[in-house]
Amino acid sequence: MEINKTSLVFCLNILLWVAFACQSSNAYNKNKQKNQQSSFVVDTTAESKVLPKPQFCQKMENLGLVEIQTVEPNIRVFVPYGTTENFTHTELYDTYQYAYFQPDVALMLQQAYHYLQEEKTGSTFLIWDGARPLSVQKKMWTIACQMDKKCYVSNPKNTGLHNYGAAVDLTLVDSLGNKLDMGTDFDFFGEAAHTDKEQVLLDKGILTTQQVANRQLLRRVMKKAGFSVLPTEWWHFNACSRRVAKQKYQLID
Ligand SMILES: [Zn+2]
Repeated sequence: MEINKTSLVFCLNILLWVAFACQSSNAYNKNKQKNQQSSFVVDTTAESKVLPKPQFCQKMENLGLVEIQTVEPNIRVFVPYGTTENFTHTELYDTYQYAYFQPDVALMLQQAYHYLQEEKTGSTFLIWDGARPLSVQKKMWTIACQMDKKCYVSNPKNTGLHNYGAAVDLTLVDSLGNKLDMGTDFDFFGEAAHTDKEQVLLDKGILTTQQVANRQLLRRVMKKAGFSVLPTEWWHFNACSRRVAKQKYQLID
């Protein structure tokens, strides 16, 4: 009888343990799912960053690049290439919380942020990418070729402005942290992302006047600070020409 009682308690313990383990596992999966679903809208504020810094940061800082939130803490950062939530479905960086630039490019961005405050107080930039090592560009190019999307990625043979820390991918968020509607999300490959035919896109009903106005606001403050926009990607801005970047900056590999 005593043995049976002990066995019963033992079995009950096992059952409780299994139930607890299943519950924990479900909670973990639910959280993971929630995080995955929300990762495109959760951006990084300067205060929320994890320490110690990832390897990517050490590499950038050794090359003399600066992290944008050390220059302007009100700018937000979320780098989709540091997660699987990007067109390659691959984590290309070991962090999504940091975006690095050449020091003078970071100051241009800070200036653009101040111009933005003059036009829309309380809104800010959400940075999607900054300095991008050539090794990452090569991986991206290989995947883009496999997906037949190479026309949207800079050929690593030519080196792009991201590879010098002189280009930025970004959008606008309002004072509550909501992204402004730009008509497409980051890395949308198609004419709706083009900046050189927005009137045609308006006429076709692909973009709304509000979406174009939001893009124009972004372009206005960025251009005022000295950046130029790409014809195919409303979110991409160059701080200088490729020729100037090659003269001024070291290639990041
Ligand atoms: Zn870009």
